[in-house]
Amino acid sequence: MQTGLFNRSRLQLAGWYALVMSLLLSLVGIVVYQVIIRAYMDSIDRELETVAGTLNTGIELYLKQPGRLEPFVKKLLPDICLIGESCPSQPDLKHSHSFWTDHHMLNKIHQSDYSIRVLDPSGKLIAVSGSRVDLPLTIGSQTWQFVVDSEGNRFHQIVSPLHTSDNQLWGYLQVGRSLKELDSRLAALRLAFLLGLPATIIFIGVSSWWLAGLAMRPIHHSYQQMQRFTADAAHELRTPLTAILATLDSTRRLPSLTELEARDTLKTIERQVNRFFELVKDLLLLSRLEQHTLSANPQLLCLNELMNDLVEEFSALAEAVNLKLIAEIQSHKPLYIFADEDQIYRLVSNLVVNAIQYTSSSGCITLVLESGERYAIIEVRDTGIGISPEHLAHVFDRFYRVNNDRSRQTGNAGLGLSIARAIVETYGGSIRVKSEVGKGSTFTIQLPLLKTPTSESLR
Ligand code: ADP
Repeated sequence: MQTGLFNRSRLQLAGWYALVMSLLLSLVGIVVYQVIIRAYMDSIDRELETVAGTLNTGIELYLKQPGRLEPFVKKLLPDICLIGESCPSQPDLKHSHSFWTDHHMLNKIHQSDYSIRVLDPSGKLIAVSGSRVDLPLTIGSQTWQFVVDSEGNRFHQIVSPLHTSDNQLWGYLQVGRSLKELDSRLAALRLAFLLGLPATIIFIGVSSWWLAGLAMRPIHHSYQQMQRFTADAAHELRTPLTAILATLDSTRRLPSLTELEARDTLKTIERQVNRFFELVKDLLLLSRLEQHTLSANPQLLCLNELMNDLVEEFSALAEAVNLKLIAEIQSHKPLYIFADEDQIYRLVSNLVVNAIQYTSSSGCITLVLESGERYAIIEVRDTGIGISPEHLAHVFDRFYRVNNDRSRQTGNAGLGLSIARAIVETYGGSIRVKSEVGKGSTFTIQLPLLKTPTSESLR
């Protein structure tokens, strides 16, 4: 069910990601395509402008009567062909007029697909030149025009007016250049886009699916943790309730009840209710600590005093089970932290209670307090049963117990160390454990020290 939900969400995420990426890619493709067209057209247009400008200047020098082309123009354009006259098949470029200082340009006109046409003011064709003389005639005086030949090849052409020396409109000069090379390159580019795009989209789709999986992993993990937590909490809460119901049931079946039996029954129920209550309290504390919503009363706290209080309180308990409780508390300099006293007390006492619980009689528990560079270091060492490496990484997890059955005998729910870790993290500290099975465990807490408190803050 949840796998289906996660797969659906993963698919949606991957779909959106692939869609956005494909749109972006297509957009980039279109922009690149347009830029390439623009760059090509710019260079072609510049070339056309140069050729047309040069010709225009040269021809205009010899124009006298509107519509009449002076013979001298033949020197400028050796292959010019007047309409109605026979035209040279092989123009003599070598003996062209000295006006063509740039013979390279003249050659270019003949080698490339150029079309040069001279029109009178009414748009009637007077003469043609260049390698293409078969283009359809266009009229109109727009500067830039597109022309398409009989085979569908596009030409770009510039139209410039020609004037006589006394500034009368003589006619028009049209210089056109084939766009065949550009068009074939653009066609190849379009083909590359067309074939490349589906392949890229497939690639993006696959990588989106993989990336969505990566993104969903932590969510999936915390969802699983949440589910495990709910199941564990429900299970732990059910245990005392089941015990209460069982006690009530067996009592109800008794034909009669002595006062002693009634008191015993009530004591059992009270014990289970207390266990239930403690569990609810721990769960609430844990969730508030993790959500940082616990109302705390942080204050300047002397760890030396707190540790001495703890030793005093737990000595009797340790003695009762034949354990030695030793304190190694740095005395030359008191260590201060800024924290809620009840919480820090709860933190260390959880570790001490565990140490007492998991150490067999005649063992030893040592409480250490010393100063690190920026941290106060608290250690709780025991010579108890120890924790095997496979469990060590999980002991701070909620409801985790190394040995379920044994812990159940002690009535512990496996929340003590997770509460300890949550408290330590609230104050920017850390907690770690080292342990060896059969030899004992050492829990080490680091809490950020307050720099030497001022006499004012001590008050
Ligand atoms: P519990 O309330 O069951 O003690 P904790 O969160 O305090 O839960 O501890 C988790 C588990 O870690 C315990 O069930 C126990 O198996 C193991 N553990 C904790 N402290 C010690 C210790 N000092 N020695 C050996 N095992 C320990």
